[in-house]
Amino acid sequence: MMKVIAKKRATNFLTSSGLRCLAGLPTVNISAGCAHKCVYCYTKGYSVYPGDEVVEVYEDMAERIADEVARKRKKPGAVYFCPSCDPFQPIEEVQQNSFEVMKLLLEMGIGVQFVTKGKISDDILDIFRRYPEQVCGQIGLTCVDDEIRQTIEPYAASVESRLVQLRHLVSVGVTMSVRCDPMIPGLADGNDQLEALFSAIEDTGCREAAVSYLFLRPAIAEGLRSNIKEAQLLEKILESYRNGVQLPIGMKSSKGTMLPKCVREERYAVIRRIADSHGISVHLCGCKNSDITNETCYITRSPKEPEGLFD
Ligand code: SF4
Repeated sequence: MMKVIAKKRATNFLTSSGLRCLAGLPTVNISAGCAHKCVYCYTKGYSVYPGDEVVEVYEDMAERIADEVARKRKKPGAVYFCPSCDPFQPIEEVQQNSFEVMKLLLEMGIGVQFVTKGKISDDILDIFRRYPEQVCGQIGLTCVDDEIRQTIEPYAASVESRLVQLRHLVSVGVTMSVRCDPMIPGLADGNDQLEALFSAIEDTGCREAAVSYLFLRPAIAEGLRSNIKEAQLLEKILESYRNGVQLPIGMKSSKGTMLPKCVREERYAVIRRIADSHGISVHLCGCKNSDITNETCYITRSPKEPEGLFD
């Protein structure tokens, strides 16, 4: 049972990220900890991670962010949600914070960019419908088998729910792509599974996907070990990384283990071919695959300049 704790944050909410792909925008976390409990969660090793059973939800976010924006010399074009949690976790206080902060920013002419595996509340979908040109999003999805999804992302939204909201957001004019990251070797990356995934994405009207295989760090490997109960499957995944390569992962002095370069090159070529046959452009994540590409995965995009609001 997840414990939700209200927390006062001592430092600013709008911060810059050390990740190369997030460098262009201020970022904001709605909570510390995340209720989705993905087995591969990359935030488990972070110093602010409050533990597997706790989510700390920040207090007075909208008021304080309004104040932070007012004090900035140059107003941001957009804000990215969230580098270390999901903005649409199944926790009322998280959805409420996201709603209040996103509404505030959009009404000020500041864009909202997000990545989620969660179910977006109707209130938030309503404000996205009002400001589609200021919103960009990525829906995380690596497979269409909901049993596999439940194994790796137990408390995130179902596959069906993610596809429905993706279709909706595309239809109202929001710039959307799918984040097929992390692909886990041997779990859902067979050719038939990829065929089903990109066929489902094609049906939503979305035409872009960001792709990367999982990188391993000790805390992530530990998360896999304690959450994947099927011993054979766990061994198969970890075995794939035994001859892996150490690569920087887009942040100064941070490294992870990636699948061998030749394995990734071969699999990415297959993914591109299958996605292409469904009219979907694939962008590899260059932050995690720097030995192959410097491509961007468009986790953020250049925001449209707010018109005349902050001159
Ligand atoms: S949604 Fe992201 S932050 Fe939340 S548990 Fe999953 S990987 Fe971690």
